Amino acid sequence: MSKRLEATVECRNCGHTQHMTLFRTLWVEYSENMSLVLNDMVNEFCCEECKYVERLEFPFLCTNVKRGVAIWYEPYHDEQIDEDIRQYQKHMGANSFYAKAPRIADWETFKAKLLEMNEAGPQPGQETQPSAESKSFFRGFIDSLKHGKPRLAEKTKASPSVGEVIETYGALLENYPFSILDSSMLPVPKPQMKAILKTAYRETRGEQMRRHLEAGFMFLSMFQDGVGPMPIDGKLFKGCGKSNIHAELAAFKKWMPWQERSSVEMECLLDEWNRFKKGGDS
Ligand SMILES: [Zn+2]
Repeated sequence: MSKRLEATVECRNCGHTQHMTLFRTLWVEYSENMSLVLNDMVNEFCCEECKYVERLEFPFLCTNVKRGVAIWYEPYHDEQIDEDIRQYQKHMGANSFYAKAPRIADWETFKAKLLEMNEAGPQPGQETQPSAESKSFFRGFIDSLKHGKPRLAEKTKASPSVGEVIETYGALLENYPFSILDSSMLPVPKPQMKAILKTAYRETRGEQMRRHLEAGFMFLSMFQDGVGPMPIDGKLFKGCGKSNIHAELAAFKKWMPWQERSSVEMECLLDEWNRFKKGGDS
């Protein structure tokens, strides 16, 4: 699912206006999407009245999560992209491929760079998951809970309290820093985790505390269905020695598809959180 926007567009040829759907992000791991780009058909306007056809100069992001690729087509400066990149830096780390996505104004250069990046695959030193630094940031919040600083509303006696849930959650993130864990390891089911973090955010005043909760929300993407009782560890791949290349490759191959799912979910969580902050949903 690529991200789309509704727009009203006026035909440059006859002045007729019509609705169309524009791509804001395009997942180029799907070959049909890659073909759209390479054949100059992304965000193509076709007038219902006079049949005039034009590729609209609308900024959009191409990603291939599997290969660690993210690149912007930005024909004119787009402030929303500045903001999106700030969000990616904050939630996925400054070294994530999302945060480091190049922004290219020229269409032909953009296509060439996209092909080049797509063929090169994941780059050394590139982080495709939240940095350990951002996780320790969340840990700071857990510690502050122990000292009883933020006063969060307690749930009914039957279910664990908000504080307990958040503490268990934080401990999991701390104990398995580079891993994908089974969703069933969460202290409560994921939809409930989301609700708890949102409630805590609403009831927390401090800006720092609120940022911790925001980070905690994004880390829900580290929990996936079907992982099983053994967390899948991506740490081996983090460039630690050449001792056992085969073992590292095997671990990496196992970890990669899970990491891909996790990144995709994180992008959705980021969207959901932004909607929540704007008051769009609870
Ligand atoms: Zn027209």
